[in-house]
Amino acid sequence: MSSPSQRTVLVTGGAVGIGLSLAGHFAGEGAEVVITGRRRAPLEAAAQRTGARAVVCDHTDPAALDALLPHLPERLDVLVNNAGGQTDFAHSPRPDEDELTAYARKFRANLDANLLTAALTTHAVEDRLADGGTVIQIGSIAADKGSGAYGAAKAGLASWNIDLARRLGPRRITANVVSPGYIEDTDFFGDHLTAERRAELVAATFVGRPGTPADITGTVAFLASPAGRHITGQVLNVNGGEYVTR
Ligand code: NDP
Repeated sequence: MSSPSQRTVLVTGGAVGIGLSLAGHFAGEGAEVVITGRRRAPLEAAAQRTGARAVVCDHTDPAALDALLPHLPERLDVLVNNAGGQTDFAHSPRPDEDELTAYARKFRANLDANLLTAALTTHAVEDRLADGGTVIQIGSIAADKGSGAYGAAKAGLASWNIDLARRLGPRRITANVVSPGYIEDTDFFGDHLTAERRAELVAATFVGRPGTPADITGTVAFLASPAGRHITGQVLNVNGGEYVTR
């Protein structure tokens, strides 16, 4: 239970990678933090590490979001829609489906994972968002550079965020997208990142290094601080210059 002055934070997909870093940051500054994800084991490990409260939830599923609500604080100061990832690295039909059906399944999976998750979650908790609070979407450089259905979903996220910012503005709630480039120490690429591709991604930055979850957390923390309170409806690119060169 939070005290009236304690900030309350929901980080979706908070067990690993960027979400884990976000949870650690907000918990470290004394906030009451809830983290979610579909897999229980990494969530529980993250909860132990950060002091956040873990709740299993698939953010593409309205029923799962309904079930999440009783586990959330009545008032939410910060919502970070971080859950997501690319689901079409490999696009191969299942034994029982044709090529076009497989394509449709993968395309929808990306839209669901990266756009529907944020829209559904925000809709579910909108009444609980505190006046003067903030909503932050974790976007991607793929929105600007193109990357199949994943990039399309992240571009849609940025568009939807503008409407959200307009709608929540009268309550002094800001809504922004933090858009990472290549970020290391995440499960994002799974087994699909070769040494050659990694080297290309690093070489594409001006600064000659990959981003880290802490780089993204720093920007989210700024947006959620008094210094960021007049920024809304924006996309903040955090990519070491990769945006320009890739
Ligand atoms: P990770 O794969 O390490 O983390 C993704 C997290 O999201 C996991 O905790 C995962 O948990 C959770 N998640 C995914 N889908 C759902 C869902 N439907 N419901 C609930 N939780 C879900 O990757 P990152 O930390 O890198 O990813 C965080 C965000 O950053 C994503 O939105 C990603 O698109 C974005 N991003 C990452 C980049 C990178 O280079 N790493 C670059 C640009 C953007 P679980 O599987 O248990 O559900």
